[in-house]
Amino acid sequence: MRLLDFDEPEEQILQKVFPAPENFYAAWRKPCLTPAVLRDEKGQPAERLLQAVWQHQRLRRDRLVTADGKKVRIFHPGFVSLEGGPDFGNAVMQIGDEAARTGDVEIDLHPGNWRAHGHDRNPDYQNVILHVVWETAKTAVDVNAPTVLPLNDSLDAPLAELSLSLENEPLRSLPENLRGKCAAPLRELSGTQLAALLQAAAETRLQNKAGAMLARARNSNWDQALWDNLFRALGYKHNAWPMLHLAETKSRWLRGGKSAFEIQARLLGLSGLLPGELTRKQKSADTFLRHAWDIWWRERDEYENCILPHAAWKFHGLRPANHPQRRLALAAHWLADMNLVEKIKSWGTAKLPHPKSRDLLHKIFQVGRDDYWSWHWTVKSARMSKPQPLLGAARVTDLAVNVVLPWLWIRAQAGGDEKLRREMEDRFFAWPAAEDNSVLKLARQRLLGTGKTPALPTAAAQQGLMQIVRDYCEHSNALCVNCRFPGLVRGWKAAAT
Ligand code: SF4
Repeated sequence: MRLLDFDEPEEQILQKVFPAPENFYAAWRKPCLTPAVLRDEKGQPAERLLQAVWQHQRLRRDRLVTADGKKVRIFHPGFVSLEGGPDFGNAVMQIGDEAARTGDVEIDLHPGNWRAHGHDRNPDYQNVILHVVWETAKTAVDVNAPTVLPLNDSLDAPLAELSLSLENEPLRSLPENLRGKCAAPLRELSGTQLAALLQAAAETRLQNKAGAMLARARNSNWDQALWDNLFRALGYKHNAWPMLHLAETKSRWLRGGKSAFEIQARLLGLSGLLPGELTRKQKSADTFLRHAWDIWWRERDEYENCILPHAAWKFHGLRPANHPQRRLALAAHWLADMNLVEKIKSWGTAKLPHPKSRDLLHKIFQVGRDDYWSWHWTVKSARMSKPQPLLGAARVTDLAVNVVLPWLWIRAQAGGDEKLRREMEDRFFAWPAAEDNSVLKLARQRLLGTGKTPALPTAAAQQGLMQIVRDYCEHSNALCVNCRFPGLVRGWKAAAT
């Protein structure tokens, strides 16, 4: 066997790995890949290549040893992050003599990047249990950082070969051997059976949401249950709780007929998101801030005990359109309308074909042009060249399937209005698919073995898949340990045939 010398120029390594003659396609491909991905100017692999090596475990897995000499066994490398934070989530591993555990993995070239990149101060990184690096540092081990695992002595092939083999493997797609144990039984279902399974799971999700709204309505009233959930939906995944907290105290801070701007100022003050300093650069932002403070400084003492701490909010990884300041501005418009709840109730009973009915709901939630928010993403951001709506069409789908339809459905159910309940179900199951999200992307690949969005053509199918993730994946781990779902799917199929 011919041994490779890593100190040789990259070209020579490639020639040894893939001796001529190579086929024409390999020849096309090579120049496109090698310069960019193999090594940087210091002769280190690109970080993306290290991530691909980790994902595909192109390692001599029996000789993984941490920087402080502990043996590491990787049972699952984790799932690549689709929205910031550590590179891989939910990996399963055993370090030294510890019991096997689940946690996140961060990949960097050097151990020092843990602090240099600010991961030590970022709460999103608190579940990292392994810091995978290219090579260890000569400096002392940082005892406050996660365990360091260097890879430079553990690759299963030369970097040149790994680069060619992995570069075109998109990190965002899940390798087949990392799919869930349910992927095989789900693949054996017919299209009709899979649709029926997702529909049943979606119906369960609708009923669960509706049940929580009923409980809230019993302890307050139907309108409050609706507002709680509208606010919560505006918080998206990151800020659902502080938004809910604001909604829950609405009766204290929403009194009298107020303009949308007055409510905005109050909500920004209550949320702790009204900046105390002017930008001194953005004239329009500073004018907005001055006017908002003119209102808030007079009210602040009265609401002192409902003001949220700034730390209650999460900003990392947020798109500007989803910034809580902007979402609060939208909520202020809805509250200033005074008739939003009545309009939603009328929408439920309006006899319209589905597409028209969807358009009408969009109109109900959409607000007119706002002098400030149509032109700025946040309180301090620069003026945009084109106005942007406060609510995109895609968000209306989220509001419909997560809030409006469950709320109208449970009201109809509680009031014994069977016709209305069925109509709400019809609308729920016919609603076109919502925007994709990271949970769906991973679930499509892990459970259904496809990254393609048409696999879930309706919002209800998406909801069904998310319910399966909630019920099964979130109670198991990346290895699908003790998950009953594959057996249930097999049993269901056998009973149906
Ligand atoms: S945990 Fe269960 S439901 Fe989730 S992917 Fe694994 S087998 Fe499927």
